[in-house]
Amino acid sequence: MSSSTRKTIIAGNWKMHKTRAEARELAKAIVDAVRSEKDLPEIILCPPFTSLCDVVETVKGSVVVVGAQNMEHHDSGAYTGEISPIMLVDAGAKYVIIGHSERRQYFGESNSSVNLKLKAALHHNLVPIVCVGESLDEREAGLTDSVVRRQVAAALADLTSEQIAPLVIAYEPVWAIGTGKNCESKEANRVSALIRATVNELFHGKGEGKLVGESIPILYGGSLKPGNADEQLEQPEVDGGLIGGASLKAEDFLGIIRAGAKRVQLAAAK
Ligand code: PEP
Repeated sequence: MSSSTRKTIIAGNWKMHKTRAEARELAKAIVDAVRSEKDLPEIILCPPFTSLCDVVETVKGSVVVVGAQNMEHHDSGAYTGEISPIMLVDAGAKYVIIGHSERRQYFGESNSSVNLKLKAALHHNLVPIVCVGESLDEREAGLTDSVVRRQVAAALADLTSEQIAPLVIAYEPVWAIGTGKNCESKEANRVSALIRATVNELFHGKGEGKLVGESIPILYGGSLKPGNADEQLEQPEVDGGLIGGASLKAEDFLGIIRAGAKRVQLAAAK
């Protein structure tokens, strides 16, 4: 599978923003704007838990789907404050972001908890969007490749290539998230290719069998905006975007969706 056959995905991570009314309003603005559009990418909105059902209801009957920003790996139990995969499915979520750098940085998520969550999400047919990426210190120390490879290997431990087939990976250099510093597009492409090669090596050794990494969409995330989205999404290894800040305003997010639609059109023309 090549960039022309992999799914293009534009996902908005609303983080801890939007009341229920605001979430409905933003979701409606996006749904209304894309209603008559063709060649759209997969559009995913990831609101806070409190607005999940509101957004699911608002996007019903449209091409837009909903994801959660996090989950606990247990099905149920005495885990005060947590939300299980069963609850997310029940609320209507199709995707779940796992291992976002803010979860790793502020809430103690580790490579091993990411692995547990990933397995639980797959088990419950939620599509995981697993985030990997290096910090500024790691980049400056020349550790980008080893950090990213380690995160990918740990996230996918003890899984089979069949199990990980639905997976989406987001390359999100931590230094580019919410900072206005966009990773240079050739570099985002290089690291995305490294992630793909790492998946292939993990599951097939060096170049054997059907390469599962070739069909996995890899998104870029980190200060993606309408002004830089075209360049990032023109890269052959970058299959879409995970967007924080610019997903909070309909006009900005729609600009990035348009960049995704161009990628879809280009792929169809190949
Ligand atoms: C994110 O939160 O995943 C993200 C990429 O944020 P931003 O677009 O604001 O950098």
